[in-house]
Amino acid sequence: MEKNSIIPGTLYLVATPIGNMSDISERALKVLNEVTFIAAEDTRNTGLLLSRLGISKPLISYHEYNKAEKGRYLLARLQSNESCALVTDAGTPAISDPGADIVKLCIDNNINVTGIPGPCAAINSIILSGLDTKRFVFEGFLPLQNKERKERLEEIKKEYRTVIIYEAPHKLIKTLEDFRSVMEQDRKIVLCREMTKINEEIIRTTVSSTEQLYKDVSPKGEYVIILEGCKKERIIITDPEEEVEKLISSGMKKMDAIKQVAKMMGVPKNEIYLKINKESDEKDKC
Ligand code: SAM
Repeated sequence: MEKNSIIPGTLYLVATPIGNMSDISERALKVLNEVTFIAAEDTRNTGLLLSRLGISKPLISYHEYNKAEKGRYLLARLQSNESCALVTDAGTPAISDPGADIVKLCIDNNINVTGIPGPCAAINSIILSGLDTKRFVFEGFLPLQNKERKERLEEIKKEYRTVIIYEAPHKLIKTLEDFRSVMEQDRKIVLCREMTKINEEIIRTTVSSTEQLYKDVSPKGEYVIILEGCKKERIIITDPEEEVEKLISSGMKKMDAIKQVAKMMGVPKNEIYLKINKESDEKDKC
């Protein structure tokens, strides 16, 4: 069989550009041209992409709200030996989009699945961040519901690997506010905006300094947030008062001990100072 020829009964996960049309790969073009049909998250967007690429192919819609019914339909066509390319709005299918469900369905039904790798916002942002790329975690979009969101932020606070988060522009300011109220203030943060597009912008700053951003202009375009992992020693301090006491009994002055614990936890020294004084006031009242 010719190398790269289309295999009947196969689902092809085809990565498409995240902003720059020239990022489409030769192999992606070949697959999109030669499969029996294309399943797309948004048929209008993909229709535009295909017409710019000069490709004419039957399109069916496959998105979050029809994925159960359309998944069964796609499976039946693959089982009858048709080949299908799955594309999402932009980037790599199955990363924060409904692609993962059809992949699972195909695997469960012994349908061959293969990938045509290419652009992915998560990977492009981590390589541009300048933060540690040896170990990282992908969080996708943060939960919106209060309780779940709070729990997730607490988990991320304790994460010592670099964290990748997707965010919509109209939710960015609130997310940065949440980070400022939960995370260590000196933790590095990188905002990757409109990557591969003409307005690409990479802002490398710290959690506390994000307060200065977007005072005069609103966030615009697509964003990925990269957050530095926490320092390992920070996560083991659960009781700052006890830590301060330990340092004092080893001979350190109270204010120096407070300063050191604050540094280890990545919080302002005032926060530890107030916490300790509040706790000792409460003990005095008892
Ligand atoms: N499957 C896609 C991928 O491979 O990255 C991601 C799909 S997810 C629904 C869309 C999110 O990806 C956006 O909200 C944004 O966080 C991020 N994104 C996509 N394109 C981007 C770009 N050019 N610049 C920055 N972020 C982008």
